Amino acid sequence: MIAHIIAVGSELLTPFRQDTNSLEITRRLMDLGIKVGSKTVVPDNDEEIARAIKSLMGRGQLIIITGGLGPTADDRTREGISKALKKNLIFDEEIHQWIKERFKQITKRQPPDNLARMAFVPEGAEVLYNTVGAAPGFWIEVPEKDLRLLVLPGPPAEWKPMFEAVRERLEALGKKNLERRVLRIAGLREAEVEDRISPFITGVKNPSVTILASPEDVQLHIVATSREPEEARRLVEEMVGKFKEVLGENIYSFEDEPLEKVVGDLLRQKGKTLAVAESCTGGLLSHRITNIPGSSDYFLLGAVTYSNQAKIKVLGVSEENIREFGAVSEPVAKEMAIGVRKLAGADFGIGITGIAGPGGGTPEKPVGLVYIGLSWEGGVEVQRKRFSGTRLQIKTYSTSHALDMLRRRLI
Ligand code: AMP
Ligand code: MG
Repeated sequence: MIAHIIAVGSELLTPFRQDTNSLEITRRLMDLGIKVGSKTVVPDNDEEIARAIKSLMGRGQLIIITGGLGPTADDRTREGISKALKKNLIFDEEIHQWIKERFKQITKRQPPDNLARMAFVPEGAEVLYNTVGAAPGFWIEVPEKDLRLLVLPGPPAEWKPMFEAVRERLEALGKKNLERRVLRIAGLREAEVEDRISPFITGVKNPSVTILASPEDVQLHIVATSREPEEARRLVEEMVGKFKEVLGENIYSFEDEPLEKVVGDLLRQKGKTLAVAESCTGGLLSHRITNIPGSSDYFLLGAVTYSNQAKIKVLGVSEENIREFGAVSEPVAKEMAIGVRKLAGADFGIGITGIAGPGGGTPEKPVGLVYIGLSWEGGVEVQRKRFSGTRLQIKTYSTSHALDMLRRRLI
């Protein structure tokens, strides 16, 4: 089963707005065993929309279109569909009333006249009511071409419930013969991961394994297909078992969870708390930790101690150490970790100090040099790392490494 995605919106053809809908839709389709054959971005223009639809006919069983369903004159998706499928747009008074009611409910204002545009429905289309906004979506069947169109509004909050409303139909189309698993790995580089798993994946097509590396982690995407869902699952499980043997505790999640979530869960399970002192990462570690709902259960304090004075005054780092070894040094990372733990009364303290670049490096202390301290009751450890990349990449590597040090201490 092949699906194609069309994102409608002139803004998506500028550098200012990105088509993220197609990514979210692709993720959902993959879970349903539906493969995406192509994605297209078109402007708000009847002709372009119609041409995109026509060019996809006969190339798959499903076309998903997002955007261009609003009430303003530049929303042209209805017209484009009407042209491509040669179906008239028919005004539906019932939908018009419903849209006006929705508008009043949501805005507490009188509905403007242009809302009527949203009550035009391609002949024969099934209307998908909008549970968040007002613009209706459509499900359109073109039996003679073995084709279905799922037409969704642009805003993610609006199309997601509509997608869920037709999920069962899509599931039936996809026949659920695809099993997918994402393993996440910390503490190894992409090449090291590849080296360890290559005996199991060279020449193997099913499951297919993709390695994806980013400053956050290395991921292994495993996808198996089979006529039998059981068989697809078994193929994935078997591969996961082999990866476990060669990657061991470097695998931090078998469920595609971010490191900050895994570490947070461990802290909560063990009833432990955390405080962090950041210099070169400028709050990124605290940001990642607090992106996880419920992090207040274990995260007590995050301090961005950027200047020497702040390190001394807030964390109690010794002036002599800074003078003798520099702010980016092992003793300072250590004192930061210990200091912030004490300051917050936490079970664990993390201290990060480094040179994120692009300037500021010296031969002894090059860009990307980072010291990460971890302190706990009865101990402290500091690791010296050398990361490469842009400023943001170095900051991200540093936070991932810090989280991973804590994870390894917790397991
Ligand atoms: P529209 O239905 O085309 O008027 O889109 C309304 C809003 O939905 C836009 O302003 C965007 O914020 C959002 N949107 C539309 N298309 C996309 C897309 N492909 N990816 C992400 N957001 C989108
Ligand atoms: Mg638009």
